[in-house]
Amino acid sequence: MVTPHYDLSDKLTFGVPASCSFFTEVTSDEELSHALDWARENSQPTLLLGGGSNMLFHKDFEGLVIQISHKGIEIINDDGRFIEVVVGAGENWHEFVIHTIDQGWGGIENLSLIPGCVGASPMQNIGAYGVEIIDVLNYVEAINLATRELKRFTVEECELGYRESVFKGREKGKWAIVRVSYKLDRQSELKMSYGAIEEELKDIPHEDRTHKNVSDAVIRIRQSKLPDPEVLGNAGSFFKNPVVSHDVFVKISVEGMPSYPQSDGRVKLAAGWLIDQTGWKGHDRGSHGVHDKQALVLVNKGGATGSEIWSLAEEIIASVKERFGIVLEPEVNQIR
Ligand SMILES: Cc1cc2nc3c(=O)[nH]c(=O)nc-3n(C[C@H](O)[C@H](O)[C@H](O)COP(=O)(O)OP(=O)(O)OC[C@H]3O[C@@H](n4cnc5c(N)ncnc54)[C@H](O)[C@@H]3O)c2cc1C
Repeated sequence: MVTPHYDLSDKLTFGVPASCSFFTEVTSDEELSHALDWARENSQPTLLLGGGSNMLFHKDFEGLVIQISHKGIEIINDDGRFIEVVVGAGENWHEFVIHTIDQGWGGIENLSLIPGCVGASPMQNIGAYGVEIIDVLNYVEAINLATRELKRFTVEECELGYRESVFKGREKGKWAIVRVSYKLDRQSELKMSYGAIEEELKDIPHEDRTHKNVSDAVIRIRQSKLPDPEVLGNAGSFFKNPVVSHDVFVKISVEGMPSYPQSDGRVKLAAGWLIDQTGWKGHDRGSHGVHDKQALVLVNKGGATGSEIWSLAEEIIASVKERFGIVLEPEVNQIR
C-alpha cells in the first residue's frame, strides 16, 4: 500500500521535520518489486529507509520512500562451533545482537546498541569498539533497483572499508539489501582492549568473562557517552575519522593529537578531537548544537531543521580545515 504525503520525522533519529510524497513498507522481495513497479509507473524517484538512524533530511523527499522491513533469522549452517545465519534486512540490529548472545554465538557483541536495521549494517560497514561488520560478514543479498536482479555479494564484492561499501560508494543508489548473512563463532575471542571495556570488566576474572559480559560493558559505556535519540535527536557520529597519508600526518601533527597507524601506512585521526580543538564541543544554538560529551555528535535539541544542522556541520568543517588543513567528511547520509 502506498500512502501519499507521509510524515517521516518519527522514523528519523535526528527528529528533524521531513516528509515524502509517497511512502510504503515492504516485507518481502515480491512486495519490494511491486513498490519499484509502482514508482516506475508513476515516475517517482525512490529512497530506501531502514531504521532512519544515519540520515539527515535537508528538505522533504519528492518521491517514494520504501522502508525495507524483511524479517527472519535463519541458521543455514552450524558445525557445532561456527554458525552461518541469514537475517532479514528489516530486523532491528541491536535485537539481533542480543539474540546471538542469548544463543551463545560470538562475534558482534562489541556492536551492541548500534541503532538501525540489519540491512544497513554492510552499507557503511558499521563498527564500534574494535569490531566491524567485515569481521563477521558471510554475504549480502540485494535486489537491483533497475533490473530487479537478485544478487549475492561476496565479502570482497561488498568492497568494505572504513564506513564504506560498494553500496555507499561505486554502486550508490542501485541496490536494495534484502538479507545479510553473518558467520558467527561460539568460541570467538573476546575483544576487550578497545575503549573502556577492560576497565568495565575489571571485577570479572578473565577466564570467567563471556560474550554477554562484553555486550553489557559496551552497552554501559555507550549509554554513558552517547545521547539517546529518544531523548536528544542525533545520528551518532556525524563525521568520519579522517585517514591521511603519513607525510600529511607528520606535517600537521601537534602535541596530544590522537593518531592510529593503518595497515596501508596511512594514519587515522580522531575527528572528535579535531572538532574539540577548534572549540565546538558543547556548542549550543538553542534548537541544535554539538554534544557536550562527544564532539563528533551533532544534536537536535528540539525544533531544528536538517538544513540548520547541516549549516552547523559546514561551519565545523571550515574551522577544522582552517586550523588543521583537513576536510572532514560526513558519515551521515545527506538527503538533499
Ligand atoms: C546514537 C547513535 C549511535 C550510533 N553509533 C554507531 C556506531 O557505533 N557505529 C556505526 O557504524 N554507526 C553508528 N550509528 C549510525 C547508524 O546507527 C548505523 O549507520 C546504522 O547501520 C544505520 O542503520 P539504519 O537502518 O538506521 O539506516 P538508515 O538511516 O535508514 O539508512 C542509512 C543509509 O542506508 C540506506 N539503506 C538503509 N537500508 C537499506 C537497505 N536495506 N538497502 C539499501 N540501502 C539501505 C539508506 O538509503 C541510507 O542511505 C549510530 C547512530 C546513532 C543514532
